[in-house]
This record gives sequence, structure tokens and C-alpha cells, in this order.
Amino acid sequence: MPVPVPFLDLRAQLVPLRQEIDAAIGRVVDSCAFVLGEEVSAFEAEFAEFCGVPYAVGVDSGTSALHLILRALGIGPGDEVILPANTFIATAEAVSLAGARPVVVDVDEETHLIDPELVERAITPRTRAVIAVHLFGRTADLTSLKTLTDRHGVHLIEDAAQAHGSRYRGQHVGSVGVATGFSFYPGKNLGAFGDAGAVITHHAAFRDTLLELRDHGQKRKYEHQRIGTNARLDTVQAAVLRIKLRHLESWNAARRQVAERYGALLRDSEFRTPAPLRPGEDHVYHLYVVRHRNRSAVARALQENRIGFGIHYPVPVHRTEAYAFLGMGPGSCPTSERLASEILSLPMYPEMTAVHIERVCDVLAEIQL
Ligand SMILES: *Cc1c(COP(=O)(O)O)cnc(C)c1O
Repeated sequence: MPVPVPFLDLRAQLVPLRQEIDAAIGRVVDSCAFVLGEEVSAFEAEFAEFCGVPYAVGVDSGTSALHLILRALGIGPGDEVILPANTFIATAEAVSLAGARPVVVDVDEETHLIDPELVERAITPRTRAVIAVHLFGRTADLTSLKTLTDRHGVHLIEDAAQAHGSRYRGQHVGSVGVATGFSFYPGKNLGAFGDAGAVITHHAAFRDTLLELRDHGQKRKYEHQRIGTNARLDTVQAAVLRIKLRHLESWNAARRQVAERYGALLRDSEFRTPAPLRPGEDHVYHLYVVRHRNRSAVARALQENRIGFGIHYPVPVHRTEAYAFLGMGPGSCPTSERLASEILSLPMYPEMTAVHIERVCDVLAEIQL
């Protein structure tokens, strides 16, 4: 019986770190400093250093990270924020949670990422920000986006929930935008033992505002400067993340190797593999997404052969029921809509072996269409 291949294997990552993580969690439990304990500020300092920025603020999810960035920028009712149709719903939800209106634009056919030309056309006097999503781990075109957001006097925000450690022109994601949101959802390239997230920024005042917003708008206990929320990063999660952060670069390198192997094995197949990186771009392969016109047959074959897969995402943001009120009918973002019907994410995790990768590609090669 051929080996089954999971879509991702969190256990494989956990096993070698188990004792170290158990000990770190044990120390948090012993300290009883469950909320905003020392591990939180230690992780914030280490994550900021990793990203090459002065400040990081730990929060309870990637969704909160983006939501609080928008709040800290004073974006709310009456404002518009531009984002790509091809992203996880949270990018749009953050805008809605802030009370602003998401303006959804189509993506580039090759990169699957936000198309700067369409962003420019979508700018109105109400536009306050653009969210560049480094989807799947690939860096968005920050040069064009920064130029055009500067020209129009709007903020550039980066959603790096899938791109920890990815570099644009040699600089970590987060170096161009006014602030950048990360998710540490367990399956992300850097994952906690539950929900967690962070914001990074170059600006001290922005950091201070975020610290207040995540903690009931207070600077000191019971001195509520503004209406905030409870979006703090748990101490236990920070302790786990500190240990895992030390391995992120080598995990990303392993992901790149898996991607390279997939690319070589699928080169002459009917599957469209990720477009080659353009100068300055980087990819940390949170997901390895291929395209095929007959996706349902591919999905069936993978299922029958016990090979895990995903679809990221089956419905573009503007076509979800939640965002029906935007009034964007079929064909309003044709590239994203076509991608949604053709894309499929193959198994991808740092511990994947050559045997696993070959097995996936063998099954793909045998599919009768
Ligand atoms: C995961 C993700 C988020 C949200 O992060 P959570 O931690 O799940 O709230 C936002 N944007 C993108 C692109 C994501 O992949």
C-alpha cells in the first residue's frame, strides 16, 4: 500500500521540540503570569528583531492584528480600504470590523496577488488604505504599491499572515508598509498552540496605540484612554512561539526545497505551477498552489489515493454570502473567480520527504482526464 500523504503534519514539527516546549509552558504555569507575562515582551522583542523592525506587538490572532492596525490608523465608518479578491476572508473582515468598507480588486493572473494597476483605478477620495496580502508566502509588488499609495496619500498595510520570513528586495515583509499583520494560527509557517498574532511597525507612537487598543484602551490599569478591546497575546502562546521562531528560517528553507522538487517533477505536466519569482520577489511557500482546468477530477484522484490537499480559496471574498452587500456579481473579478475554480493546494510542510513528494507527483501523473 503506498504511503498516505497528509496536507500538513504538525506532529512532525512538534516531536523534536516537545520537551523544550513542555518545559517552557511549565515555567509559565509555575509563574501564574498567564496574561502579559514576561514571555510576551520577550517574544515581541525577538520577533521584531527577526523582522528587522523596531517594534512588534503580540495580539490574539491575525484578524485582530489587521483590525487593530486599521483602528490605530483611525480608519472607520465612511472610509474605504482596498484589498485583493483572492485572500482569506479575514483581510476583509478586519476592514468591516473597523467599520470601513472593503473595496475588492482583482489579482494578477501570474502571481495570484493584488494587481497594482487595479488598485490605482479603485482609489477614490474615501480611500484610506491598501492592504497588500503576501498570499501563499509570495511577496506582493510592494514597489508599485508603495509608489501609488504615497502618490495618493493613503496608507499601505501588509497582510503577512502567510509570509513569515519572506523577503522583498532582501528586506523582511513588513519593512515597506506602515504596519504589518501576522497570524500564528497553528498551520501557518510560524504557528502557536492555538490562536495568536502580531503587528510589526517602524513607528513608536503607532506601537503605543496598539498596546492600548489590544488591552481595553488603557495605558495604565483602569486608565482607559480610548475604546479598545481584549486582543492580548497569551503568555503560553508567546513561550511556544519563542522556541519555534528559532527554527523558522530552516523550516522556510525546507519548504523552498519541497517547492523546488514539486516544480521539477511537475514541469512537463498539465498542472500550472507557481510562476517564477520576479527580481526582488521571495516565496516561503506557506502553500504550494497548482492550477488545473479539471480540478474536481484531480481532487477525486488525490482523495482516492489518500493524499491531502486544500483549496485556497474556493470562493473569492466578493462572491461570499457575507460580502453579497458589495453588489459585485459574477465576472467582477474574473481572474480571482477563474483561479477559485482551478486552484488546488498540494501537501506542503517542512518535514515532507522526497518519498512523499514523489508519491504526490506520481498520483498527479497517473490521473486520467
Ligand atoms: C490566517 C490569515 C489571516 C487571519 O489570521 P487568524 O490568526 O486566523 O485570525 C489573515 N489573512 C490571511 C491572508 C491569512 O491567511
